[in-house]
Amino acid sequence: MKITEQFLKKILVSPSLISEKDFDLIKKKALAEKKSLINAILDQGLIFDEQLGRLIADEIQLPFVNLQKTKIKKDILNIIPEIVARQQETIAFEKSQEGLKVALSDPENIELREFIERKTGEKVLPYYATEKDIKETLKCYKREIKEVFDELINKALEELKKTVKAESLPIIKMVDLILSYGYENRASDIHFEPYQKKTILRYRIDGILYDVLTLPETIHEFLISRIKILADLRTDIHEAAQDGHFSFSFPDEKADIRVSIVPIEEGEKAVLRLLSERARRFDLEGLGVGNKETEIIGKNIKKSWGMTLVSGPTGCGKTTTLYAILKILNTREVNICTIEDPVEYDIEGVNQIQVNPKTGLNFSKGLKAIIRQDPNIIMVGEIRDEETSKLAINAAMTGHLVLSTFHATDAATTIPRLLEMGAESFLISTTLNLIIAQRLVRKICSKCIESYEISPEKIAQLLGKDLVLKLPRTKEGKILLFRGRGCSLCYKTGYLGRTGIFEALEIKEPIKKLIIEKATADQIKNKAQELGMRTMIEDGLKKAEKGITTLEEILRATKE
Ligand SMILES: [Zn+2]
Repeated sequence: MKITEQFLKKILVSPSLISEKDFDLIKKKALAEKKSLINAILDQGLIFDEQLGRLIADEIQLPFVNLQKTKIKKDILNIIPEIVARQQETIAFEKSQEGLKVALSDPENIELREFIERKTGEKVLPYYATEKDIKETLKCYKREIKEVFDELINKALEELKKTVKAESLPIIKMVDLILSYGYENRASDIHFEPYQKKTILRYRIDGILYDVLTLPETIHEFLISRIKILADLRTDIHEAAQDGHFSFSFPDEKADIRVSIVPIEEGEKAVLRLLSERARRFDLEGLGVGNKETEIIGKNIKKSWGMTLVSGPTGCGKTTTLYAILKILNTREVNICTIEDPVEYDIEGVNQIQVNPKTGLNFSKGLKAIIRQDPNIIMVGEIRDEETSKLAINAAMTGHLVLSTFHATDAATTIPRLLEMGAESFLISTTLNLIIAQRLVRKICSKCIESYEISPEKIAQLLGKDLVLKLPRTKEGKILLFRGRGCSLCYKTGYLGRTGIFEALEIKEPIKKLIIEKATADQIKNKAQELGMRTMIEDGLKKAEKGITTLEEILRATKE
């Protein structure tokens, strides 16, 4: 049964659970955000999933079940094979004398009922469950990774007694499983760390390393061999570092996996980076850039020449921001060339060169080569020395749009740091269009988010008096903020996912003047704020106010 707009209107607007006006607003929002109407209604928070589910069930005269609150036995769940359950959005949840109770999100799916009856010989008793509930419950099919691994390890040990090679099936399965499990858990990196008597498998999820499994040391070298085979590396070399990559098909996408193997005292340590498209949506909004900053960036990258820098410490997401900008600029009419270390993503239609220390190809040499390729837009992975800074400024001067990253604590500090590197103040003031600075902060887990009140005095202690004024007060004069309580979804951390906090310093006339006068970072920052720049902390506070991140995260991130 398709749950149509009319159907929802009938069960929500007629009994005035939602006003007609709200309903129409939500409808527009759903359309604009390309969401299903049901999800848009739920997101609005006017009604809970279970409430809505019960209303739908009543209307179609089926009993309702909340699967999340139902204890489902493994053998009952497994009556419907996982693949069928996923495709048809159905869960078998209980067996009674009368038959098999099956939750469906589409109760009119007669074929499915017949299929189950044929297969099990049981009468199907249909229940209605919401799509969201069923999707959550589908996760029950996965066994604990430890359980699956114990089995595989035993098989592998058995097999390794007979043949000694990495192509043995249990080893292949183990590596596949480690990758799939990492992907499902949104790991960005997977570490295989050898110790004297064991190997520890770690996943980096949202920037934090979690120990996932301890494996017997006898298996370690076979896992490493298997990874080497996948990445086309030498399996007979154990004493040298090796890099490579391979692609792996996950259910949702084919992702590139970058492999780095380094010999350490206890053996070879492998780190796999999952370069999943899903994990990185290359658009500014998805990265957390606010409307105001997006507008400033848009305006400045439209200029035909000059330089845009993204500043911050290592690992703050600078390169991802550059990719997002390149994606905007990447049209047929322009010639874009990059020199990167390493090339993290292949962008169609862009000439990407990778720094290669073996052949002496560094940023400055690469940049010289690129300029001969008649580009309109040049991206230099990083400006980290005088020669590269001079070449980049020169390229910007001669009519190219240059994008790069720079190591500095904030936007204003970038300018004195460039001067220290030996760049001419006059040239900087002429060529710089924009400096973006950023940090990554963890997002509050949406499943266990809660609000709390904090006094303005307490915040003033943490942030200083000026910033407190920017936060709205409750009637009692307190400030409302958010945090995650910690739940199973977020590994009890209260955080899930990351986003950026940004500042965008436009190099307008008064700033140019300060650059030529070799003003300090503070002077530049003050002037920029006077001209309307929102600092990273201010952007962070906006995100804290909206319940996206916590005050602690902003403080932690901006302390670097
Ligand atoms: Zn949580």
